[in-house]
Amino acid sequence: MVIQPKVRGFICTTAHPDGCQAIVKEQIDYIKSQPHANGPKRVLVVGASMGYGLASRITAAYSFGAATIGVIFDKPASGNRTATAGWYNTAAFEAFAHADGLYAETINGDAYSQEIKDKTIALIKKDLGQVDMVVYSLASPRRTMADGTTYSSVLKTVGEPYTNKTIDLKNRVVSDITVNPATDEEVAATVKVMGGEDWKEWIDAMKAAGVLSEQAVTVAYSYIGPVLTHPMYADGSIGKAKDHLFAASKQITAEGVPAYISVNKALVTQSSAAIPIVPLYISILYKVMKAHGCHEGCIEQMYRLMNQKLFNGDAVTDEENRIRLDDLEMQPAIQAEVQELWASIATDNLDTHADIDGYFSDFYRLFGFGADGVDYTADTDPVRTVGNNA
Ligand code: NAD
Repeated sequence: MVIQPKVRGFICTTAHPDGCQAIVKEQIDYIKSQPHANGPKRVLVVGASMGYGLASRITAAYSFGAATIGVIFDKPASGNRTATAGWYNTAAFEAFAHADGLYAETINGDAYSQEIKDKTIALIKKDLGQVDMVVYSLASPRRTMADGTTYSSVLKTVGEPYTNKTIDLKNRVVSDITVNPATDEEVAATVKVMGGEDWKEWIDAMKAAGVLSEQAVTVAYSYIGPVLTHPMYADGSIGKAKDHLFAASKQITAEGVPAYISVNKALVTQSSAAIPIVPLYISILYKVMKAHGCHEGCIEQMYRLMNQKLFNGDAVTDEENRIRLDDLEMQPAIQAEVQELWASIATDNLDTHADIDGYFSDFYRLFGFGADGVDYTADTDPVRTVGNNA
């Protein structure tokens, strides 16, 4: 099959197996080229197939030689449909890891469910005995509970509507958008999906099963960002869920497992593409950070998290015990430039004010398009294998 991108709204409905493989390889090569701390040797990553979770898995495997189990929620190819990008990323990661003599197994299913928790715990018991680190990196629009109730998360403000600039990426047009407040019910549902309840359920279930080692730590990811995104993010419905995630970190820590929130940089992922206002901010941020030589992607962020902030002696945290990987994004000089560009950005100056090409390049790369050395006009086999447990 010759596979081309087919973009619908915020997602691309096709993915390229060779492109995904090349991009996973680039991330592995990056980690291999860096000095390594002495980190955990057995790592579970929940939400391991894309974005920060995939980069966490690659970092643990190739910085520390860690055995990794990844929990993913992806689809293999069927008929004339390609697999999801997360499936291809995982197939590629497993193949590289196995060739390099590293244990890597994957469980494919809904991480919110008890069934997948039980299956994961059984696999840990069988193959690893225990794990030393749990990365919780789910980003999901919905969560289905054991009784069948489904909660959907929303990306809205809380309290007041908020109007600011946004970009229609397809037409490259900047316009104002008003984001309306979520209802109390919508906020509660967003907290159910993206808050800390399920993270804690994972840790509690693993503790009860005896599959967390004495030195085990856990980490989940959050975002704060500058004031212009606050009504939409930090103070919005997703921010309420992140507050809950933070509260869960304190509770999990108090109950015996050090639990960290890592505040990461804003990056193009499948999840962030769907948030109003944020993609325009990200494309200005890319422009400014690239000009200053301090731009990072998921893999550079996860490298710093594990090798410099978490496992390089005592954890490096702010006064609230959070790890700040947004330290470069939030530098006053960077934010001042972003603010200045934000104030005057419009459709006719997009190219000078923002890195729209960089945004698009990252977006397509999420699905394996635009990788160096891949012939996208060639036939390729869309069927790729993810290990025994998927
Ligand atoms: P992503 O969409 O790239 O990855 C999310 C992962 O979760 C995917 O592998 C997906 O398959 C998996 N997943 C979703 N639902 C699942 C389910 N039910 N069961 C199993 N797996 C499931 O997202 P991301 O941007 O890497 O986000 C990961 C975390 O990082 C989130 O908590 C997000 O809020 C946070 N974060 C993201 C950014 C950003 O700018 N992208 C910044 C800071 C923090």
